[in-house]
Amino acid sequence: METIDPTTGTPLATHPVMDDAAIESAVAEVDQAARTWGASSVEERAAFLTAIADSLVAQRDSLAELITSEMGKPLREARGEVDKSATTARWYADNLERLLEPRQVDVGDGAQAWVTREPIGPVLAVMPWNFPLWQVMRFVLPALGAGNTVLLKHSPNVTGCALAIESLVRDSAPAGDVPHGVLRTLVVDEPRVPEVTERLVADPRVAGVTLTGSNRAGAAVGAAAGRAVKPSVLELGGSDAFVVLSDADVPAAADAAVRARFHNAGQSCVCAKRFVVAAEVADAFVDRFLLGVAGLRVGDPTDESVDVGPMARDDLRTEIQRQVDASVVGGARLLAGGSAVEGEGWFFEPTVLTVDGPGVPAFDEETFGPLAAIVVAKDDEDAARLAGATAYGLGLSVWSASTERAVALARKVTTGAVFVNAVVASDVRVPFGGTKQSGYGRELSAEGMYAFMNQRTYWAA
Ligand code: NAP
Repeated sequence: METIDPTTGTPLATHPVMDDAAIESAVAEVDQAARTWGASSVEERAAFLTAIADSLVAQRDSLAELITSEMGKPLREARGEVDKSATTARWYADNLERLLEPRQVDVGDGAQAWVTREPIGPVLAVMPWNFPLWQVMRFVLPALGAGNTVLLKHSPNVTGCALAIESLVRDSAPAGDVPHGVLRTLVVDEPRVPEVTERLVADPRVAGVTLTGSNRAGAAVGAAAGRAVKPSVLELGGSDAFVVLSDADVPAAADAAVRARFHNAGQSCVCAKRFVVAAEVADAFVDRFLLGVAGLRVGDPTDESVDVGPMARDDLRTEIQRQVDASVVGGARLLAGGSAVEGEGWFFEPTVLTVDGPGVPAFDEETFGPLAAIVVAKDDEDAARLAGATAYGLGLSVWSASTERAVALARKVTTGAVFVNAVVASDVRVPFGGTKQSGYGRELSAEGMYAFMNQRTYWAA
């Protein structure tokens, strides 16, 4: 399996794909490890998570360089991804005892009842390339804290990261306390992915499956989990609205909007994608937003001053170009950018369109690249209508001088998270996940850990 540097379009490395025998050996190892690791104490698990945090800190620079080389995000964003993973590992280590403490229930009649949270065994994690470390760690850390083990099927373009995660987890294990094989990476040839995934989900040794990725992949894996009657979490696409109300601090909103749309070259599920702006402040917002976009430095992601790197794959760039072109044909007005950058690498200009509402790809579809669509709303009611006019329901950002007014609007739009006067982001202290076509289930916080645990009732008469 070949990885390619998106900054130059040249090959980076070749990794051997695993045949059926190698996959079987990994499944057997993870299953075996689950038996010992599932019986580990809270102290042993917390110590392991702390050791993983320490390894992440120690390997910060090499991991960040690997992430940037494989998928092209600016090096400083890649370092942020490593830091966030380390913080999350420490949070689970520090909170594990509280999270796993049995809940006593008063049932009277001299009986005792309590509820425990127990591991379920190996969980398959199918992961995307856009946050190649963070996306994996936000599942793996609570899974290991729960006493589960992990089979990781990562995106092929970040195979180096997938193997680095396997090594990091293995090498962090305090000697004697953690069995070999609590996390194994599967390197699967792309055409075989649907068949191998289906087989693994059905395998009696695999207890559940989590997928972060597109709706197409999510529907396939969710269906497989349904057939096998196994728990699943799906973290899928998004088309988040960023709503600016008439009383908002427009400069602050516009500056945040630039960050919300263009970090990671626009390739994040919770990037703000549709900007719904009150008519009274639309001109001021657009002027300031365009100024911010014009100031973005596009280029080599290893250059510390660069804001926007290349897109991760050539086909993703082709798709963004199609969405821009079709939107313009459909009546959208191009205010900035609009084209691939000529020369080596898969760069695309930061692009801004104004649209009238639904009916063009820039509004109706998830745009996974540096493309912002701005739409003007008549009033709060209209803003809620436009924000909710999407099949997705991941995050919502609302900007207003009044939290009450922002929350009143948010209650009319279905999403998994609402951020007022802030950019939507994941944080280990609060659950993260979607509604509608953005998926189901939650990651992070207590909810993320309990998603793959047996919440078990004990009753002693
Ligand atoms: P993708 O093409 O769906 O790939 C994601 C993972 O699913 C890859 O490992 C892929 O493997 C695998 N996969 C694809 N088809 C599959 C199938 N039929 N059965 C089993 N596995 C399958 O998505 P992507 O392009 O990498 O990522 C972008 C998408 O992910 C966007 O829609 C984005 O919004 C979403 N995302 C969501 C979140 C969230 O938290 N909600 C976070 C990040 C990204 P192969 O590539 O080897 O086929």
